[in-house]
Formats: sequence, C-alpha cells, structure tokens
Amino acid sequence: MSRGLTTQLLHADRLGGVEHGATHKPLHTSAAYGYETAADLASVFQGERSGHVYARQGNPTTHALEAKITLLEGGVGTVSFATGMGAIGSMFIALLKQGDHIVASQFLFGNTASLFQTLENLGCSVTLVDATDASLVAQAITPKTRIVFVETIANPRTQVADLEGIGKLCAERGILYVVDNTMTTPYLFRPSVVKAGLVMNSLSKSISGHGNVLGGAITDTGLFDWSTFPNILAPYKKGAPKSWGLLQIRKKGLRDFGATLGAEAAHRISNGAETLALRMDRVCDNALKLTTWLEQHPKVAAVYYPGLKSHAQHENATRWFKAYGGLMSFELKPGHDTFAMLDALELVIKSSHLGDNRTLAIPVAQTIFWEMGLEKRQKMGISESLVRISVGIEDYVDLQADFEQALAKV
Ligand SMILES: *Cc1c(COP(=O)(O)O)cnc(C)c1O
Repeated sequence: MSRGLTTQLLHADRLGGVEHGATHKPLHTSAAYGYETAADLASVFQGERSGHVYARQGNPTTHALEAKITLLEGGVGTVSFATGMGAIGSMFIALLKQGDHIVASQFLFGNTASLFQTLENLGCSVTLVDATDASLVAQAITPKTRIVFVETIANPRTQVADLEGIGKLCAERGILYVVDNTMTTPYLFRPSVVKAGLVMNSLSKSISGHGNVLGGAITDTGLFDWSTFPNILAPYKKGAPKSWGLLQIRKKGLRDFGATLGAEAAHRISNGAETLALRMDRVCDNALKLTTWLEQHPKVAAVYYPGLKSHAQHENATRWFKAYGGLMSFELKPGHDTFAMLDALELVIKSSHLGDNRTLAIPVAQTIFWEMGLEKRQKMGISESLVRISVGIEDYVDLQADFEQALAKV
C-alpha cells in the first residue's frame, strides 16, 4: 500500500533500524568509525560493504535525512550538504571538466549566477537564456553541453521555466537536466515528472521552514543514464550506471570540498520537514490571497506571482504545480516610496531569507542584486523598486492588515 507523503516522512526514521526505540533518528556526532578487523575497514573503503569511515562523507543522522529527501522527490538517492550553495557548487565541480558547457536560465538565484562566473574563470562556459522558452535552450546547446540547469520558479520575478519542454529536449539529446526545486519543494512539484536527472533543494528554505538551520541536497531521480556521461571517473563506474553520478558527487563533492551537513543540522531539517505539507498549504493560501489583494491596490503597479491569471506562465504553473508557493514580488506606482512602505511594516520582517514561517520582505535592487549592477538587473527584469516577499504562515488577516496600514502611509 502506498502511503501519503506526510505519513511516510513521519515514519521514515523507523524503517532503517530503530535505535533504542527512538522515534527520531538519534544525533550521531562521531567524527570517526572503527571496525573489528583491518579487512572490515578496507572493505568499507573499497565499497564492498556499506558503512561509515569518516564523518566528512556523512553519518547515520545525515543519511536518515537523505532517505527522507529521496522519498520526497521519489528519487533513487540523495547527498546532503552544509548549505544549498554547498550542494550546487560541489555537484558542478564533481561533474564538470575544463571546456564543458552549461546552459542555464538567465533568471537565477543570485549566488548561483555568481557560482557560474567562478566556473567560467575555471575554464567552463555558461550560456544564460530565457528558460521560459525551451526553444531558446535548444538553440544554446552545443556538442560540449553537459548540463542544463534551471529553477522551477525564479527568484525574485517568479518566471516559471518551461520545465516540461526542457525535460523533453534534454531527454532527446541525452543531456543531464538539473532542476533547482527550492521554490516549489517536492510537495508542490517533483522534477522527475518532467524527466530531470538531478534535483537540487536548499534545505535552508521551506523544507526545514523555521529559519533556524542551513542545508542543501542533490537527489538523483534515476532517470539519467550515467554511462553516457563522459566525466564519470573510473572508480565510480561500479555496479549499475544508475548510481554512478551520485556516487561521484558524494565521493568527490564531499571529499574535495567538505561542505558536509552536521548531525544537529540534519536533525533540525528533519523536524521541520515533518510539517512541510501543512506549512506549504498555509503559505500558498496566504500568498494567493495577499497577491490577489495587492494586485487591485491603487498604489501597486505590478504583482508577480504564478498563481495570478496575469502571470505569463500561469497556465503552465497550474498544470505542473500543486499550488504556487510562497515567493512573490511587487512594485509600487511611481511617486510612492518603496523604502518608506517597507519601514512602515510592523509585522513583516525586512530580511533576505526565504521559506521561513515568518513573512519576510526585501528591496531587491539595493540588496541581493546590488553587486551585479544596473545593466544586469535590467536584463533580468529587476526594476529598482522591486520588493520581494517570502510569505509565511501568519494568520492571513494580520498579514493583509500590515500591508494595508503600510501602504496607507506612503
Ligand atoms: C537559497 C537558495 C539557494 C542556496 O541555498 P543556501 O542553503 O542558502 O545555500 C539555491 N537556490 C535557490 C533557488 C535558493 O532560493
């Protein structure tokens, strides 16, 4: 019998061997793991038997969390990292070589855009395209393209990539398709449905939800044929090709860069994830109500949220996602001071984070997209007055009331 997602999550820790009857996976803080015989130790090192050696490659607590992320994504395996950027960076560097080419959405999380500049400095090339149109991705692909990378809902303007069209394209061309699912979470959308090979999730956002921990994860959906990927190193071509890619990401990614998730952080993420479905239902409900209300406010020029009929990819978002998430952005009409409006908010916190239980607001151009400069911002469709909101789980009436009084003051 196939049980629901929340039911499975709540009971996942008791599937892999219960320690002392505990309902949560205990926190394993040991740095090292010892074995009876030298032969046992050697066989773990050689991958002949499973086991832990040194905690940079993970520990039983992080592995219990990885099993939950795999379950959420309907994948075949997951590697966790200390942060989302640790996951993305380790994944790219573990899989790419000098001369390789990446096609990515031009609407990207700012830090991922920064990482692509670093990869270019190291000898890879990156082409950024408007990923809301798969034909533009197709045009950018070259014989050297190894990875196509997109986000589900882009931050901060909420463009929705042509997830299905790009998935078809990558499957036809045999290219690894990597989807950053942070904004939708596996509760609203599973990238495996559109044939993604790898899924990235920042665990610092909605999956943990309480804004009290950082983490990241790469999940293999089992759909990509790693025997066709030219950069798999000899030691990782072991067993079924299905497992090669993730093995290389775990071995090379965690060994070479060591952005390992700690047991305490894994425990907090696990705790948060138990209520993912409940929180996301509330977040999505709040966000749809708030954006619908803001859109008709006389001082508001534009609201960006995939749940609105005015959104350019509203139909696709409706087709692919269970609901539209907690990320939205908006602009005031000229003559109204954005900073004054933000300062007048009494409840909503001015903060750069996302996916917190608390509603957070940030002026985008002057903060998270400041370093890149005006020209790049304009290319990404980010106006100087854009405000991003990460909608939380507060009682809706209180949220609307806070924006209502703040808008009245400007
Ligand atoms: C936050 C975020 C990341 C990076 O995650 P961290 O855990 O903050 O390192 C990557 N992608 C998206 C879409 C994000 O929102």
